[in-house]
Amino acid sequence: MRAGERLDVGHLDVEGYEQVVRCRDAASGLHAIVAVHSTVLGPALGGTRFHAYDEPDEALTDVLRLARGMTYKASVSGLDLGGGKAVILGDPDLLRTDELVLAYGRFVDSLGGAYVTAEDVGTTQADMDLIRSVTPHVTGVSESLGGSGDPSPATALGLLHALRAAAAHRFGTDDLSGVHVAVSGVGKVGSVVVEHLAVAGARVTVADVDATRVADAVRAHGVEVASPAAIHTVTCDVFSPCALGGILNAATIPDLRCAVVCGSANNQLLERADGDRLAAAGVLYVPDYVVNAGGIINIAEELGGYDAARAGERIAAISTTTAEVLRLADDEGTTPAEAADRLAERRVAAAAGRTGD
Ligand code: NAD
Repeated sequence: MRAGERLDVGHLDVEGYEQVVRCRDAASGLHAIVAVHSTVLGPALGGTRFHAYDEPDEALTDVLRLARGMTYKASVSGLDLGGGKAVILGDPDLLRTDELVLAYGRFVDSLGGAYVTAEDVGTTQADMDLIRSVTPHVTGVSESLGGSGDPSPATALGLLHALRAAAAHRFGTDDLSGVHVAVSGVGKVGSVVVEHLAVAGARVTVADVDATRVADAVRAHGVEVASPAAIHTVTCDVFSPCALGGILNAATIPDLRCAVVCGSANNQLLERADGDRLAAAGVLYVPDYVVNAGGIINIAEELGGYDAARAGERIAAISTTTAEVLRLADDEGTTPAEAADRLAERRVAAAAGRTGD
């Protein structure tokens, strides 16, 4: 049987997107949507989110928003990749079977490489390994399969590069010794960020809803501790959100006591106006998708045969990208969030053979 042959696949027409494809597989219970926002710069790389959405429409909204975001992240990061994303609808704890994951892999394969998948919330490296058995269009597989493993350390390293560039921009030096950083969320990314900060001689305060993770950070690095509800109010140089999105909003921004925000969490601004609120409050916001691109930069390296040294160089370039975004914001009298979007859009427009803006 050819890949994708027995899958029930339907195309949705969504303006601004190259392809939005829904797939159902009665035998395994698979219901998935892949959104390819743009392949102008290259294949659309983005993770597969496996989540129990309340409504199918909510899944569609999510996958469209996420796919578009991936176009911006890949573009601003200088990757020759487009933006895409996928969702599998349902509770992964109840629905995940090898049969379903393999059916999903065949669905990805049926798109012929326009979409390249990866791990995201609700999917695991083991899922990616299984998908690899039916399609080459998957990244983030195990190191034993030629993959690059967990992207979190790469994301954390990228954050450090972004933070140094932001410090140079704001404080006139990229030396982090004595710089006070408040880290919200010390999970897979945040815990490694804290390690790097400790090595760099920074003063660190952490918060996490998981007391074990806080205790681990205190034991390993002697960090200070704040409550999860108050970490953004800590008087510090840098606030680093590494937990949830939407943390920067009309309610929290007036309470910030930092000069810079630089963290890994996706979608930190609750709404676009929060970028303006941060600027008005005198806080330098380093756009989340510039800061947290280390993970995708790392897995993108798998497409040409993974080379850790080359990946490291590309992750280090987040420093240059950050500096460029912050400079553009100053030059064009706009916010860094807006500047990052402009930079990303200009690169896509140039590749599409149009002029920028
Ligand atoms: P994770 O689940 O390992 O860690 C998140 C941590 O935040 C956990 O320790 C959790 O207990 C804590 N947390 C949850 N709610 C909190 C709250 N209200 N206050 C303080 N802490 C809270 O996730 P992760 O992989 O470390 O990712 C962190 C963030 O970075 C997420 O927003 C993720 O989308 C984003 N991100 C991660 C990667 C990556 O490579 N892992 C890449 C890009 C973006």
